[in-house]
Amino acid sequence: MASGLDTSRDKVRLLSSTDVEEVVTIMSEIVLGLGAPKSCAILVFDPDLEEFSDRFIFGEKKSAFAKFVEKFNLEEDELEPGVIELDSDDFDIAAEMQPAHVYHIKDIDSLCATIVMSGDLRYEADDLEQMFDDYPFATAVKRAWELRELSHENERLRKRYEELEDRIISMEEQTRQLIHDVMLKDSLRTKHTDRERLLYRISNAVRSSLDIEKVVKDAVENIGATYQVSRTFIMGFIRDSERIDVYEHHRGDVPSAKVFLDTVEGSEFIHGALVKKVPQYLTDDGVANDSEIHSQLLRQMDFRSALLVPLVMRDQVLAVLCLQDCVIPREWDIDDVSLLSSLADQLSVGIENAQLHAERERQAVTDGLTGINNRRKFMDEFEREFVRAKRYGEPFSLIVVDLDFLKKINDNFGHQAGDEAIKSVATVMKQSCRTIDIPARYGGEEFCLLLPNTDLELAGQIAERLRKLINECFIVGYGNISASIGVACYPNHAADPDALFQKADEALYKAKEGGRNRVCNAE
Ligand code: GH3
Ligand code: MG
Repeated sequence: MASGLDTSRDKVRLLSSTDVEEVVTIMSEIVLGLGAPKSCAILVFDPDLEEFSDRFIFGEKKSAFAKFVEKFNLEEDELEPGVIELDSDDFDIAAEMQPAHVYHIKDIDSLCATIVMSGDLRYEADDLEQMFDDYPFATAVKRAWELRELSHENERLRKRYEELEDRIISMEEQTRQLIHDVMLKDSLRTKHTDRERLLYRISNAVRSSLDIEKVVKDAVENIGATYQVSRTFIMGFIRDSERIDVYEHHRGDVPSAKVFLDTVEGSEFIHGALVKKVPQYLTDDGVANDSEIHSQLLRQMDFRSALLVPLVMRDQVLAVLCLQDCVIPREWDIDDVSLLSSLADQLSVGIENAQLHAERERQAVTDGLTGINNRRKFMDEFEREFVRAKRYGEPFSLIVVDLDFLKKINDNFGHQAGDEAIKSVATVMKQSCRTIDIPARYGGEEFCLLLPNTDLELAGQIAERLRKLINECFIVGYGNISASIGVACYPNHAADPDALFQKADEALYKAKEGGRNRVCNAE
């Protein structure tokens, strides 16, 4: 062939190309090779938009030819196949380009592309078109164009998918946030309810019970459970105002605070805490810097954060409520501190009430002058001891003591000296008796000493020792005092309380009769 083209190879190349530009380039080689125009344009037609979507220019004078091709923008029928006249007014180089040949590439009836060639051709237009018809131009262009459209569509779909995916992610995020908000609200509400319940439970317990030990034990347990801390303890003057008690609730994963508090450092820590009248926050990093709190002890306790709330009553710190978290450096918010302070106030009231009640109880059974048991308490114990002794078949003894010549002391040295004598006897009785014995002031200058599980012989020895000790007591002005003592024993002397008391009294009378400052046993 004149052009030197390899028709079969070009056909294969055309059909195996999938890219529009590649197909068009191969076509241009064929067109330029066969027709030998000066230049050629290949316009790819978009059937959807019904216009040329791509323009490719090949050969010489490309820019001028491009302008020419541009002129025939779009309208398919403007580009009638065959020879067209170029308007020389529009193109200063139009003469060189003349004539122009238009050849349409169609797939059945639909236009796929248009070839425009300028200048004289090697063959007659009809012959050339026949040659072109021999090439699968339509199939190649259409296929490449469709593939490109598909890939565009693919790209659009991918973008759309990505947009959708982004929207799904953002909706998921919104949903998560919403769920989080709802759960947070819910947990806040639950937390609020739990804490109100705790306050109610503790104030209720304080109002309805005088068993302060139980109230405080329940309180630390409930506070620990509600606040979910590692240790909760209350340390201070709970049962009475002399001795420090510690009540604790701790989780199984930490050792008891008592291990650390029951040391010299622990005692220093407790006393240090018991003077602070406002809540204290302690953190693990702050521990080392707080010179007031025993830092070494706190490090041993191994907590991350702690809150100390004092139980204050009339400007006195009764005790301190301490919450320790050994897992997280917990932030104590204002609500926590305010609720725990209310709880501490309730407990302070409970502790004070219980202490006052205990004091009243103590006073009801205590003799005001001597501080030992009064007659009422003695009678209760006496009857109880009788029942007990009878049930277990054990002996017990009763000692009655009467100060000698008190009237004389009163008359000669004043009533106060008489009181001193009475108090001396009470002190001796209290100090010399065993813990199981019950000393009491029966009335005036008469005392009793109940000796559980004690036979007559032992009671006689105890009475004699008591007599000697009383006789060692010295009253300024008067000198040594003395007492007469009567001893009676169950079951030796009587089988009921009144009779036994009478026997002891008779023995006492005998001691008086016998010259005083002596011990007599019942008959
Ligand atoms: P006796 O050796 O016979 O027991 O002689 P007494 O003087 O101790 O006994 P008496 O029964 O004659 O007098 C008891 C006195 O004790 C009379 C009373 O005023 C006095 N007395 C009773 N209770 C108290 C008290 O609480 N304080 C004082 N100072 N005197 C009291
Ligand atoms: Mg007397």
